Amino acid sequence: MNILSAKVVAIGYDVWIQKLRPVCFIKNTLVLSTSTLVAKRTTENRYLDTIVAAVKEVNPLITQVEIITEDQKEEYVARQDDVLDGEFVVRDNGENAAPPLSTFNKKYTFERFVVGSSNQFAAAAATAVAEEPGAKFNPLFIYGGVGLGKTHIMHAIGNYITKNSPQLRVMYVSTNAFFNEFLDVIRNQRSDPDLNRRFREKYRMVDVLMMDDIQYASGQDAVQEVIFHIFNDLYQLNKQIIFSSDRPPKDIAKLSERLRTRFTWGLSVDIQPPDLTTRIAILEDKAKEQNFVLETEVAQFIAENAESNVRDMEGLLNKVIFYSSLSGRKVDSIAAAREALKDSIEMPKETVDADDIIFYTCKYYNISTADIKGKRRNKEFVEPRMVAIYLITEFLNLPLVAIGKYFGDRDHTTIIHARDKIAELLKTDLSVKKAVRDISDNINHR
Ligand code: ADP
Ligand code: MG
Repeated sequence: MNILSAKVVAIGYDVWIQKLRPVCFIKNTLVLSTSTLVAKRTTENRYLDTIVAAVKEVNPLITQVEIITEDQKEEYVARQDDVLDGEFVVRDNGENAAPPLSTFNKKYTFERFVVGSSNQFAAAAATAVAEEPGAKFNPLFIYGGVGLGKTHIMHAIGNYITKNSPQLRVMYVSTNAFFNEFLDVIRNQRSDPDLNRRFREKYRMVDVLMMDDIQYASGQDAVQEVIFHIFNDLYQLNKQIIFSSDRPPKDIAKLSERLRTRFTWGLSVDIQPPDLTTRIAILEDKAKEQNFVLETEVAQFIAENAESNVRDMEGLLNKVIFYSSLSGRKVDSIAAAREALKDSIEMPKETVDADDIIFYTCKYYNISTADIKGKRRNKEFVEPRMVAIYLITEFLNLPLVAIGKYFGDRDHTTIIHARDKIAELLKTDLSVKKAVRDISDNINHR
């Protein structure tokens, strides 16, 4: 009797599956009945393989499943080996997992999602939905900027349901993947007229549907139409639907009004960039995951340099970890972190002064500071001197007289002349142009 496990039930609360009743065993065949011939055909076409596979898994001795209509029952019962009681037994021991429709990233769980004031509502709503899909916020619409954890939350819901309600079918799809699948259907419809139906059916038979980055449906009328119908079917059956987007429904351009309103039927929650404390907590968690000892001041330094995107912040942490393992040097101070990340973050600009500019100009022309500041009017000093003066007027807001003082007390008309001369040469003289550009670069990337 109890051979019929929830495996069969787990395949679906789909109308067709729900209609099935176990009748009896005949040798190694399990006989199931359904209401009508249409139901029999549909069930056979869609689910027979899955049912056989599920049943085999429970009892390898059963190798076949036969579906009959109600009115054939008597005939079969007469040939029976064992009559079943007409009820499927749901065993709630975790073995009754439906074959997964989507696989979820094991790292993206609720436990690993650091909650702060920026994301607490989204996290709470997601948890509620994962605990009781379809019961509370339907649809759940999560929106927020790039790299703030929307996909993480969706995977967390998926992981949670897979673990705690394994009989539920959870489907995660990115809107782009959905779109591509849809295009394939359109393309191949001619050779396989049933494709479109199977495509829609696949999404209609789920208990929880998550569509990530729904903003990509913008302007795609045909896709919106399909989503609309799938939404309606699932919604009517109280199936949970979850969307994510980089903006709220009202800001998604070229979205049909009927979809837009549906998006807001349930609950919309936003995720904001996390505050410093939350960012540090996230870093600590991610470091722990990689067995990396993260010093507080390094965490603080990284967190301060990535304010609006957790993914980018993780990238900085990974760089530090990578640098540390590659160089064998500990990144345990701000200075070391600064070194490890020098190509990735904008260094706080220290102020440039005239001496810096003179220094880099001399370095470029390979002359001494004394010569550039001095009185000699040799050609090899005149151009560098004028370039330095020009750069000082460009970079700094110094009075001309003050600039003159740097160059042996030259008067302001000399400074003006030098500045204008270089400005002029920049239009025609490639070597001056290159000098000004390279020296500026060196000053900027000091
Ligand atoms: P989105 O889908 O919003 O663009 P993701 O979900 O892909 O962002 O998140 C980007 C990265 O940041 C992921 O590695 C994710 O684990 C991490 N992340 C974002 N927010 C959090 C958080 N609150 N706690 C832990 N990790 C987070
Ligand atoms: Mg995402």
